[in-house]
Amino acid sequence: MSTVCAIATPAAVGGISVVRISGERAVEVAEKVFVPIGKRVSEMRGYTAAYGKIYDGDERLDDGVLLVFRAPHSYTGEDVCEISCHGGIYVTQRVLRACIKAGAEPAAAGEFTKRALLNGKMSLTQAEAVADIISAQGEQSLNCSNLMREGALYRETERISEKLMEVSSQISAWIDYPDDDTPVVTNEWLEEKLGEINDDLSRLLKNYDMGKLIREGISCAIVGKPNVGKSTLMNLLSGEERSIVSSVEGTTRDVVEETVSLGGAVMKLSDCAGIRETEDEVEKIGVGIMLKKLKNADIVLAVFDGSRDISDEDERLFKLIEDKTVIPIVNKSDLEQKLDISLLEKRLGKCVIISAKDSGSAELLGNEISSRLNLGNFDASAGFLANERQRGCVIRAKDAVENAFNAVRAGITPDAVGVELEQALNAVFELSGKSASEEVIARVFERFCVGK
Ligand code: GDP
Repeated sequence: MSTVCAIATPAAVGGISVVRISGERAVEVAEKVFVPIGKRVSEMRGYTAAYGKIYDGDERLDDGVLLVFRAPHSYTGEDVCEISCHGGIYVTQRVLRACIKAGAEPAAAGEFTKRALLNGKMSLTQAEAVADIISAQGEQSLNCSNLMREGALYRETERISEKLMEVSSQISAWIDYPDDDTPVVTNEWLEEKLGEINDDLSRLLKNYDMGKLIREGISCAIVGKPNVGKSTLMNLLSGEERSIVSSVEGTTRDVVEETVSLGGAVMKLSDCAGIRETEDEVEKIGVGIMLKKLKNADIVLAVFDGSRDISDEDERLFKLIEDKTVIPIVNKSDLEQKLDISLLEKRLGKCVIISAKDSGSAELLGNEISSRLNLGNFDASAGFLANERQRGCVIRAKDAVENAFNAVRAGITPDAVGVELEQALNAVFELSGKSASEEVIARVFERFCVGK
């Protein structure tokens, strides 16, 4: 495989930048570019660093630090050299160019991680987790990606594939050597084993939605009639003066969005326009957008004004949100209360009572959302599916296992069951990357940045 190089740090001015080189000739390339004080690069052992001067031919570019990793003890599993120079955009590009002149090729997006995958340093699901760690925006999402990076899903898929192989090999042995001492594969045994595998796959699929919420963020639509305090609540949660807060009805004419970290989870908040019949063209557009946001929201924060009683407008809101996961919020608890909370709770479930003007309400609400969505009980260490690719593989594996199960029930010959199990195994291997095609791998690495 060729030796590649790339800038591993962002294209921005900073304290230091890192140019990374990986491949058989990494040390040779680094030696042409970097001259350490008092030693030679080729003499440096793995996991050692040296201070020295960086050159492009005879031209001195900068001084910096070289880190050397020797195969297989590196991120990619190959020899890796990392040159840290001063964090200027021009100087970093010059160091990169010097490495290319010295014999390295420019790396493609995600090439270092792809090499780690091809050299058996990680599974495909672990490589995907690397991209997720880079894009994680909140504590829970980072924790999950880290567990995935450590191989939580990989271990689970290994367990499932071992079970599949056990059943598959028993069936093969039985077909190939029917007269031997191999234990007879009974229908009861097959049904029990296939049932277990089906349960494992179902559990992964069931956790997918929860994992997605944690990874990508929970989309929350904040709805309620005008003047109940939606914008104030949005500002409180986002900690920014994003929405217009005013006591004139109907001022929020469009959906304002904000991504915030609340209760450890990432929440994508949409402050929606007040629901009301309107002739105002601009406001009509806002109402239309709100309805769409409402339809796509994972959770609805339905805001009510505690100082006013339920009105017809609220009735209309009840209808709109009847199929959604709703957290009813009674706002303005600091004012004299006129709202019949028990009536509201009968319609929508337990209310959270707050004053959006009190900064402590943000944490209270964050914890409430987290507990209503059961986020705290989500055990990421048991392995969960992080994207559509992984989910697609599990669906295919589960379909095949179900077909195998039905074939056993229908008394179809064991070789037909074996064919289905083969399909299931292929899908599980594609999930972990053990037998993923070039095309699948290329699609995974499209998401990566150059230098990772
Ligand atoms: P929206 O139309 O639902 O977005 O409502 P706004 O956020 O614009 O708030 C309407 C009015 O209610 C503003 O004057 C806010 O200052 C006021 N308001 C919002 N929350 C509270 C609260 O908890 N207590 C009190 N006393 N006033 C509030």
